[in-house]
Amino acid sequence: MRDFQDYSLLKHNSFGVDARCHRFVEYSSTDELRALLPQLRGVRWMHIGAGCNLLFTGDYDGTILHSAIRGVEVLEDAPDGTVLVRAGAGEDWDGFVGYCVGAGLYGLENLSLIPGEVGASAVQNIGAYGSEVAQRIETVHTLCAATGEVRDFAREECRYGYRTSILKEELRGQYVVTHVTYRLSRHFVPDLGYAALAREVEARGLGAGLTAARLRELVIEVRRQKLPDPAETGSAGSFFMNPVVDEATYARLAAAYPGMPFYRVAGGVKIPAGWLIEQAGWKGRSLGRARVWHRQALVLVNTGGATGEEVRRLSEAVRDDVRGRFGIDLRCEVNIL
Ligand SMILES: Cc1cc2nc3c(=O)[nH]c(=O)nc-3n(C[C@H](O)[C@H](O)[C@H](O)COP(=O)(O)OP(=O)(O)OC[C@H]3O[C@@H](n4cnc5c(N)ncnc54)[C@H](O)[C@@H]3O)c2cc1C
Repeated sequence: MRDFQDYSLLKHNSFGVDARCHRFVEYSSTDELRALLPQLRGVRWMHIGAGCNLLFTGDYDGTILHSAIRGVEVLEDAPDGTVLVRAGAGEDWDGFVGYCVGAGLYGLENLSLIPGEVGASAVQNIGAYGSEVAQRIETVHTLCAATGEVRDFAREECRYGYRTSILKEELRGQYVVTHVTYRLSRHFVPDLGYAALAREVEARGLGAGLTAARLRELVIEVRRQKLPDPAETGSAGSFFMNPVVDEATYARLAAAYPGMPFYRVAGGVKIPAGWLIEQAGWKGRSLGRARVWHRQALVLVNTGGATGEEVRRLSEAVRDDVRGRFGIDLRCEVNIL
């Protein structure tokens, strides 16, 4: 266990914001976590992963927990090719995906290179290129923060939706994820439902000979072209969620902007938030030391030394403009603290 007072979070958030917390504790087993929980009573606390979806707008006046529970274990290897694989919450997400592909365990390829850890994958319902981790989650293993008791959430209990879950919303802060079990397959069936990815596969002539390793490489290559590398440029990936509007709003906007991209989804019409932000003239624009990424307007970046408050101010300016121009209220994907 590692336990620090008055600790800098600079290396624990991908925006690269230099906020501090009162206490930072990193535990490496479920037993260590259980022993720690009574110390949190009456104290402000939160759990973080790698901090790739967090924006600290100031110092955190409390205790921050971080999991160093590692390890990957095959729980079941069924004759039909289904494999249940359990990973510790503190495992690096992309390292885990790479391990699975290398071990012939398929189903996570489209989620390659998403920054962060295994624990958060199940809280956030990470997704990319038409795939969501919820499709592959079997069980989320947790400890109840109030009692220290084990509680396993089956996938259906997690109420997964677009970048959300019961652990992110209704039960936020009440359970700590210790491990996640994924349902993977020994048979590789590429998920090419996302048109842009299918086009990339075709453009490279990969078609019939496509392997899981090649698909993973391709996803990594495409992501590197579009998204800032967290090691070089601070960001939290997509800052806003893509809004889903009703048919009447869609019809009004489509009449005013005939080239507007859209996707029909359950519950309405999804409009890419990046397109709205770009139309509002924000792509590549800065406010102080925070900037809208020049290759993808959905991403806000720290150009160097920005405070969390500067990034938040930029996000508010973008939201105000999009609301004024399109009448759409953008929701933040990033957890603002
Ligand atoms: C460059 C870049 C690209 C990105 N691209 C994508 C993308 O394509 N798709 C996508 O979905 N996301 C993307 N993201 C966002 C981010 O990678 C995900 O949200 C990821 O799951 C965050 O993981 P983390 O470990 O950093 O979690 P954190 O940001 O530290 O935490 C996220 C949430 O999970 C909770 N949490 C973390 N660990 C635990 C635990 N053990 N128990 C209970 N709660 C916990 C935290 O309290 C918080 O609410 C991107 C981010 C960056 C920087």
